[in-house]
Amino acid sequence: METAATGREESGAAAGPVEAAAGQEDGGCEGLWELPVERCVRRAECGRCSRPRKVCLCPFFPVHPLKVSTCLYIIQHPAEESRVLRTVPLLAACLPGDKCKVLIGRRFGEDRYPELAAVCRNSSTLILYPGAEAANLEEVALIFPSPSTIIIIDGTWSQAKDIFYKNSLFRLPKQVQLKTSISSQYVIRTQPTNTCLSTLECAAIALAIMEKNDGIRETILRPLQALCSFQLQHGAQIHHSKEHLLKNGLYDKPMPKNKRKLRRMELLVNNVKI
Ligand SMILES: [Zn+2]
Repeated sequence: METAATGREESGAAAGPVEAAAGQEDGGCEGLWELPVERCVRRAECGRCSRPRKVCLCPFFPVHPLKVSTCLYIIQHPAEESRVLRTVPLLAACLPGDKCKVLIGRRFGEDRYPELAAVCRNSSTLILYPGAEAANLEEVALIFPSPSTIIIIDGTWSQAKDIFYKNSLFRLPKQVQLKTSISSQYVIRTQPTNTCLSTLECAAIALAIMEKNDGIRETILRPLQALCSFQLQHGAQIHHSKEHLLKNGLYDKPMPKNKRKLRRMELLVNNVKI
């Protein structure tokens, strides 16, 4: 999702493209060379990151999954799953399987999702969703019990809003947000403002804060940076945010006639949170 609220580094050891059985989730690469390769050879896809081998991102993932005590629950809108450029698989590839759970759907009732319901009722669970009632995660992290769980909604602003407000479970955990002025590095997907971050960026920052380790953020952002640079090399154009374009006089589309839309653009230029 694109949430208001980012970096980069280490573990330089390249994992190398791995042609392992599809579905292999082991973060480490040693030993994977011996696994059957037929399926992947046919698809010409990397068995680990599921990307075409020419643009395999494996060398940019940490060799071993990051050791974290915080657990992430990514609540993914179904439309997000089918997008070509998704950031959640990149995030999941950096973390141990039991620390990054992805649930896809729009409605999450207690009956169908008893485990999620238990997580939402747990006092050590936070939900990352910006708003007037949301506390600054950096302040909350100082006093919050560990290990904790953070729920993040993955989707566009309106999809995330729908999921947050129409599922009462998500209003049980303490609501937190990221207060940061760092610009999104996810330059190939237009963000409404420069500080709108991808789900991967939100997760990287939130984990670094909870684990008190900036290296975590750097490590998780490496595959995203690599993805963006691959895409740019292959003809993608840098998508500056509308805010950036307007402020720099580069907005080349006709200004809206609708007064409400025009007002929204004025607010963007004047840095007012909309
Ligand atoms: Zn790969």
